[in-house]
Amino acid sequence: MNLFEVVKASINTQEAAQAYGIDVNHYGMALCPFHNDRRPSLYVSDDHYHCFACGEHGDVIDLTAKLFDIRLYDAARKLASDFHLAPDKPLPEAIRRKKKHNTKAQQLRENEQLCFSVLNQYRRLLLDWEKRYAPQAPEDVLDERFVEACHRLPWAEYQLDILLQGDSYERSEVVSELTADGYIRKLQTRPREERYHE
Ligand SMILES: [Zn+2]
Repeated sequence: MNLFEVVKASINTQEAAQAYGIDVNHYGMALCPFHNDRRPSLYVSDDHYHCFACGEHGDVIDLTAKLFDIRLYDAARKLASDFHLAPDKPLPEAIRRKKKHNTKAQQLRENEQLCFSVLNQYRRLLLDWEKRYAPQAPEDVLDERFVEACHRLPWAEYQLDILLQGDSYERSEVVSELTADGYIRKLQTRPREERYHE
């Protein structure tokens, strides 16, 4: 048996997927790391995986190669090493370095989650401001927090709507807009700043 055969015969695809951070549920389904997945579309069995949305499929070596963006042979060696099939052979430096980095799809998903939670937080802040700083009489000077709430609430709700219900293209548009120039990170500190002022 060559390395490919040994790896395929010895390592369970679902176990490998889980070891590499794919959360497989008890139906064998997971969020697909190869497209911007919202509901679990990736089916992972003992000896193969298949995504019903983007069509990605293959065996445990294909999966590893794709996840870490490495060649099939390196993926087989990585699997052999990670699952202690060939403890005498150290991993090539290139693979060890890649291990530390998130795959692109994971990064996308994390950004999407970040945008959603920050926007949601911001929306709650604005809802609070809208009530708390509303003018009491028509001649009152408008509080700037009330003004911000009036302007930004519809915007925040629109973005949240897309993140909740949009297709993967629409969501990635929102995410790339929000993450440009670190905008979402700045927004993330808003509710905290507000607490300091009180
Ligand atoms: Zn997919």
